[in-house]
Amino acid sequence: MEINPCPMCGSKNVKSLEVNCSYIVACDDCKIETVRFDSEAEAIKAWNDGFRFVDKAQDKEIQYPQDQEKNEYRYISPEWLDSVARGLTAGAVKHPGETWRTIPSREHAARALRHLNLFLMGDTADDHIVNASMRVMMAFETAMAEGQREEWEKLMRDMESGRL
Ligand SMILES: [Zn+2]
Repeated sequence: MEINPCPMCGSKNVKSLEVNCSYIVACDDCKIETVRFDSEAEAIKAWNDGFRFVDKAQDKEIQYPQDQEKNEYRYISPEWLDSVARGLTAGAVKHPGETWRTIPSREHAARALRHLNLFLMGDTADDHIVNASMRVMMAFETAMAEGQREEWEKLMRDMESGRL
């Protein structure tokens, strides 16, 4: 797993270490390190996500020098998002004017399911995952337009409060 440069000083002089059967990631230059984890993968993920560190020089726990956002885009695969954008752009050339907005959400959901099922059956004639992703976005948007925005907002609140 790739380790990001140091969030405090920008150094690439960063490595994962085993310390008494636990794992940390540490910066050799400014001497910050993550708290301890049971596995190297967890330590690297914590470093890359950038939240809890220990400053060895001051022997105290510090936070990443920027606030955590509710919607961290780092978790979205950039390649996936790009492939969806490419698919939508190609679709807009074929059917200009966002005609998909006039199709009911259930129909988009059924098409998404069809693409996923073809993927599961091993069909490689089309990029089914990207097509399904586009259809899911369309199902989301049309469901919003059909009046499900309130339910969606409640769902987001529940998800963020940890109830889901
Ligand atoms: Zn550093």
